[in-house]
Amino acid sequence: MEITKVKRVSLLLMFACLPSGQAQAKQTVRAPIKKTCDSGVILKLNSATTSQGSLLLAEISGVKPSQEFSAAWDGRSIPVWRETPASPTLHALLGVDLEKPAGHYEWKFSWTTADGKPLSCSLQVTVRAGKFPTERLTVEKQFVQPDPEQQKRVEEDQKKMKAIYDTITPEVLWKGKFVVPLKGVSTGGNFGRRRVLNGEARSPHAGIDFPAAAGTPVYAAQSGKVVLAENLYYSGNTVVIDHGFGIYTLYAHLSEISVQAGDPVEVSAEIGKVGATGRVTGPHLHWGLTIDHARVNALQIVQRQP
Ligand SMILES: [Zn+2]
Repeated sequence: MEITKVKRVSLLLMFACLPSGQAQAKQTVRAPIKKTCDSGVILKLNSATTSQGSLLLAEISGVKPSQEFSAAWDGRSIPVWRETPASPTLHALLGVDLEKPAGHYEWKFSWTTADGKPLSCSLQVTVRAGKFPTERLTVEKQFVQPDPEQQKRVEEDQKKMKAIYDTITPEVLWKGKFVVPLKGVSTGGNFGRRRVLNGEARSPHAGIDFPAAAGTPVYAAQSGKVVLAENLYYSGNTVVIDHGFGIYTLYAHLSEISVQAGDPVEVSAEIGKVGATGRVTGPHLHWGLTIDHARVNALQIVQRQP
């Protein structure tokens, strides 16, 4: 078994300067890796080193449609798919949650040979700590210390979101490329920002904020099915789209929602308008990407199409 460094590319991720934050520049060196395993199976990853909140693209070749297979990322089973039933290559996305501790993790692929023998092969991924700024905010008391009724609502919202992310639709619902959900915008900020609200540490900021005027149309980043379109306590008017295989995008703080749960949507279809609903300091679009429960930087799915 050998690991070959295929090529070295560098990726510069720029974050825009936002009214509430500061400019952030981060450079990550990516070294794709490839491993030749038994019975002609080849595993590829776009990088063996990554950081918290990132997305890795995995490819597997040499497995016939008739063979059984499965994949696991850090011991957890993850979906693997073919773009078309006849496609020779299998794909998977490895989401590195923005709070996943730095360390070494295994991506493992298992399959059964034509004569029924179970085999497996794995690649090691190094996760580095992300460089996230800390934001100190003072907000209205009700959003830091919700009263019992509000707390009940927050818990119901969390239950709803968990049920959504626990569901993996075993189908490719996307078509073509993922796009940024606002026209003419390519950068956003605040992803991964650690937050201290009125002196109390809170969960990190899991999405990207795009400053935009209230009423600016918001578009679906990709085709899929709307699985949530309603008002939530913290994120205000919120839309969640299921793109299949555990990939979800979330759009928050909308002033208006123009879709309903259950609706199929096409990429770039209007789903609502920018607003300032929920816990916000002003109008903007909050855009989130979740891959099998991992909260990752949504701009990476635009830069590295699955
Ligand atoms: Zn946000």
